[in-house]
Parts: sequence; structure tokens; C-alpha cells
Amino acid sequence: MNEIVGSHDLLMITLDTLRYDAAVMEEMNCPNLCGGGHWELRHTPGSFTYAAHHAFFGGFLPTPATTDKSEHVRLFHSKNTGLKTHPYTWQFDSTDLVSGLQAEDYRTVCIGGVIFFTKKVPLAKVLPGYFQESYWRMAFGVTNPRSTEHQVNHAIKLLQNTDQAQRLFLFMNVSAIHGPNHYFVPGAKVDSVETQRAALRYADGELGRLFQAFRERERPVFCMVFSDHGTAYGEDGYHGHRLAHEVVWNVPYREFIL
Ligand SMILES: [Zn+2]
Repeated sequence: MNEIVGSHDLLMITLDTLRYDAAVMEEMNCPNLCGGGHWELRHTPGSFTYAAHHAFFGGFLPTPATTDKSEHVRLFHSKNTGLKTHPYTWQFDSTDLVSGLQAEDYRTVCIGGVIFFTKKVPLAKVLPGYFQESYWRMAFGVTNPRSTEHQVNHAIKLLQNTDQAQRLFLFMNVSAIHGPNHYFVPGAKVDSVETQRAALRYADGELGRLFQAFRERERPVFCMVFSDHGTAYGEDGYHGHRLAHEVVWNVPYREFIL
């Protein structure tokens, strides 16, 4: 990561609420997200959006689902904690990696999706507040069946107005996979693994344009894509998230260079 920070643009995408099993079942149908490899099984540090994103911005991305912690090389870590860190880990001397990257001359931009990014009430300003610039529109939210299209269009516009020499850290919270997602399957009345899979296929189709726009920039791009938590559709009687169940804590994770 020490070779990437400074030389690459950074793109972090959270596919809000995407279950690991749904992601794996759609790998073949997601050429943009999975064209270069498979989803990795990880455990989220938080069972809902607010908790998980605080952890992510603090440098705690989803943890590899392995019993051998020595295999886990953290991408980001706070400096001077006294804890042993790997030489490949990039350390930030700040409260969080967003302001840490800002200190390295990155322009930090947030494109919001679900309710915790709407900036409509003080609580919903906290996560966008990590960034120098943050954007949310009604059309980016969970009720719009074309939300990812609108989010990607906005991001591409920002990219076109960003100088090639400017280092960029773009964060996007994709809302389409979060409920309600039943409208991605014609005739479906309730959300399910099936309708979430359809929402993921839709989001993948739109993200291709974002990746292409990043590829056209001078700098190579380090891309991190993962879910913040899964969700339960009736497993063991559970519904939703903000609860501890394997369908919530198991999340898909990928990192790749664009
Ligand atoms: Zn979430």
C-alpha cells in the first residue's frame, strides 16, 4: 500500500447490504466487478452501515475469514499505536484514513447512497463529514430503481472536472442492493436473495462506466469493493441486519487495479 498511496488514485465502493452468497452466485454475471477474479469471503467489522463505515474509515476493512491472523496484511493502519504493523501497510497520522489521504494531497470525495449519507439530519452528516466534498441526491437513494446510474453519472462528471495531476480518493456507497430491491425482479413483491442478486447485476452494469472513466485518467487506480454487511431474509427467523448472524457478518471483498 505504501507504493500505491501517492502514485495511484483510490476508489472505494461499498455495495451496501450485499450478502456474500448472493455475490458469489452472480460472479459469472458481473463482468465489471468479477472480470479479473473471485469474491473473497471476509467478516465485516460492523453489522449495519453506520458502525461498519466508521470502522472502514478508521482503517479496519473487512477481515479475511481465516483463523490465521498473520495472513492478514492490513492496507491501512493508524500510526504510532504501539501495535506491530506489516511493512506493506500504509499508516496515517490522523483520526481516519480519509483525512490521512487528504494530508497526502488527495482530493477526497463521497458519493452517498443509503440513509446514513443523506445529510438530511445531523446523524446523516457524520459519515459524509469525513470527506472534503460529499454529494447526495434523492436519485442516489434506495427508492430510485436507477440509483446506480445516477451515482455513476455524478462521479463521471466529477472525474471530468478533476485535473489529471490531482490525486483522487473517491468513495461511493451503492444503495441499489439495499432494500427495497424487489423491483429489480418484475412481479416480485418482497425482497429476497433472488431480488438482491438482480440488483447486483444491475449495479455491476452501471459500474462498468465508472471503471472506464477511471481507466481514462493518467494515474492507475487502486480499487477496493466490498459490502458493509449482509442481511437476513428469514434465516433462523431473522430479518434485516444490525444483528449477529452469518448472513450479516459474511461479506464479499475484492481489490484490484484498474
Ligand atoms: Zn449498509
